[in-house]
Amino acid sequence: MKPVIALVGRPNVGKSTLFNRFTKSRDAIVADYAGLTRDRHYGDGRVGKREYIVIDTGGFEPTAETGIVKEMAKQTRQAVAEADVVIFVVDVRGGLSAQDHDIARYLRTAGKKVFLAVNKAEGMRDSPLLAEFHELGIGEPIPVSAAHGQGVRSLLDLALDDFFGDEDDSLEEADEGEHPIRLAVAGRPNVGKSTLINAWLGEERLVAFDMPGTTRDAIHVPFERNGQKFELIDTAGLRRKGKVFEAIEKFSVVKTLQAIADANVVLLLLDATQGVSDQDAHIAGYILESGRAVVLGINKWDAIDSYQRQMLERSIEARLSFLRFAPILHLSALKRQGLGPLWKALGEAYASAFKKMSTPVLTRLVHDAAQHQAPKRSGAFRPKMRYAHQGGMNPPIVVIHGNSLDHVDDSYKRYLEARIRAHFGLVGTPLRIEMRSAD
Ligand code: GDP
Ligand code: GDP
Repeated sequence: MKPVIALVGRPNVGKSTLFNRFTKSRDAIVADYAGLTRDRHYGDGRVGKREYIVIDTGGFEPTAETGIVKEMAKQTRQAVAEADVVIFVVDVRGGLSAQDHDIARYLRTAGKKVFLAVNKAEGMRDSPLLAEFHELGIGEPIPVSAAHGQGVRSLLDLALDDFFGDEDDSLEEADEGEHPIRLAVAGRPNVGKSTLINAWLGEERLVAFDMPGTTRDAIHVPFERNGQKFELIDTAGLRRKGKVFEAIEKFSVVKTLQAIADANVVLLLLDATQGVSDQDAHIAGYILESGRAVVLGINKWDAIDSYQRQMLERSIEARLSFLRFAPILHLSALKRQGLGPLWKALGEAYASAFKKMSTPVLTRLVHDAAQHQAPKRSGAFRPKMRYAHQGGMNPPIVVIHGNSLDHVDDSYKRYLEARIRAHFGLVGTPLRIEMRSAD
């Protein structure tokens, strides 16, 4: 069943314009719905795989007997009764009117989910005029410009989200087959970087090829594994010699930093026989600062006994606790053990780093989180999170908008982070949360 969206609002706020946007004009007025009345417009719309029906109440012509107010009320009631979700359209340039208040009063009691679209807001996204519409008691005013198409898509996503949930979001995830995963293998000398890379390149399922324009010695190897393209980027402390890699003596921090900066995903390799050294912790710190996705590979797992393994896990826990989001993989490059799960972890870290998180889903997540545990008030300030959107990828950034958010403490941010991670299944990538306060 297609969900039905009703557009209601007083004349001239832009309902018909918005209707045309929602239906892309193509079938703005359709005649094939039974019982269609002349004064209500029905249209079919689709975003991605989501199909819906839109009702526009804008096209009616009030008669002399009924008068505009009565006719509008009747139209609105009919459309609302038929709808699954209502978009109440107001006009930021015209400002609030008595009619808006009348419609709002009716909608508050109608028992339907209502979104408040503040139209004609082109160039006014951050205008204080928008806040005035809170007065209607319909919720957060959503700025749109129907004429310019601004904010229309996110309004639609918001309206449809309850009916389709997250299922469509997965379709929009970064299609990993398209772009190569830029991968850097970092670690101090002797942890086994060249052994691992040579083991990879010798794998049957891995197809290495020379990229045009790169010299034979360049450490920049594109390859493909299980249909996933990778690009091994210039890895610090290695030299390519013909078809194999060999370690070079001098460890270079700058090279390491460049490799990390250049990568999407960093594999930080540790030597199980050595424990976690200061240098390992430093490299881990650089990776964290860079925001890159990271997987911890504990190499030479073959060379230590079970007691040493326990001690090692403890020292990782103690010294690399700030990389707790990174999956830990045990492997032996020499014996080619654990390479399959390592590939899987690298792919998952990459997918997490490029996860698309829609505004409605993020907004609902922060609202749910606040309902479960509200941010502590700080003196006279009560932090209020209004909505959230994605501000970037690799690392994923979640921007939360609201009031008095400067007072939200770190433990609350960690709580939010945990909930967002759990919902989107984010592993192997840092997640940044930014608060933006309107006051
Ligand atoms: P309705 O049918 O009463 O809901 O409103 P219409 O869709 O007919 O639009 C009323 C007027 O507002 C028209 O002149 C539109 O061109 C104009 N309008 C619609 N949307 C926008 C917008 O986003 N920005 C501006 N500046 N004007 C708009
Ligand atoms: P790199 O400097 O990080 O490139 O380290 P190398 O790949 O040159 O490895 C340093 C030493 O560790 C070599 O003697 C390797 O044979 C050894 N090595 C590498 N991987 C393993 C492993 O998984 N197990 C064991 N026991 N030794 C390894």
